[in-house]
Amino acid sequence: MPPSGLPSGANLVLASDPAAPKRCVGDVYSSARSRRKGVGTADPAAPTAAGLRGSLTFVEPEPDTKDWTWTLDRRCEQCGFAAGEVAVADVPQRAFVAAEEWVAILRSHPAVASRPEPAVWSPLEYGAHVRDVYRLFDQRLVSILGEDEPTFANWDQDETARTEHYGEQDPEVVADELEAAALTFVDRLRGVRPDQQHRTGTRSNGSQFTVTTLSQYFLHDVVHHLWDVTGQTDGAASLELG
Ligand SMILES: [Zn+2]
Repeated sequence: MPPSGLPSGANLVLASDPAAPKRCVGDVYSSARSRRKGVGTADPAAPTAAGLRGSLTFVEPEPDTKDWTWTLDRRCEQCGFAAGEVAVADVPQRAFVAAEEWVAILRSHPAVASRPEPAVWSPLEYGAHVRDVYRLFDQRLVSILGEDEPTFANWDQDETARTEHYGEQDPEVVADELEAAALTFVDRLRGVRPDQQHRTGTRSNGSQFTVTTLSQYFLHDVVHHLWDVTGQTDGAASLELG
């Protein structure tokens, strides 16, 4: 079941079959930023200055430089998701469900393109970011499966958000692209053989991932951003599939 705060359309979308089908992260690995709270408060001068210029002025969210790999070892106190406890076999279905929740938000959120605060991303901006996370992790999964101990190229998520003008994109297009990216990634996850789960890859800061921890890390990211937008830890609970 989708969290109660999500658009009603989520149920319908969730009824589709992920098996038949079909995506962020400073380097993706710091993507699970907590912009929802505290953003803009670290440097009070910036939002204040922006506020003086008018409500339409956006402030660039504070770049997230945290290392979020701890989310593999313990439950996230913000979104409530314990990525390290997710069985690897459950990751594809949960990645699919999270994508459908994002699609529902992009298609029916009443203020999809509005920032709740000058320095906090709008649901549309988060959605565009999540779409790119699905794409990026698919690329990294391809890399870790096809190369011996690859090093992942760094991805500047904040620079991407600016250059791609996330906030100006069409939410319907973003929804379609997110769904397509998720289907591709989920299919690839489903194709991972047990003997491939321990293959390793290294991100640009030196942290090593296996196929398993890469997929768990990914899952926390997209779930955490649901919490960023909805404020409901139910976003994680809804992924507790039986
Ligand atoms: Zn979290």
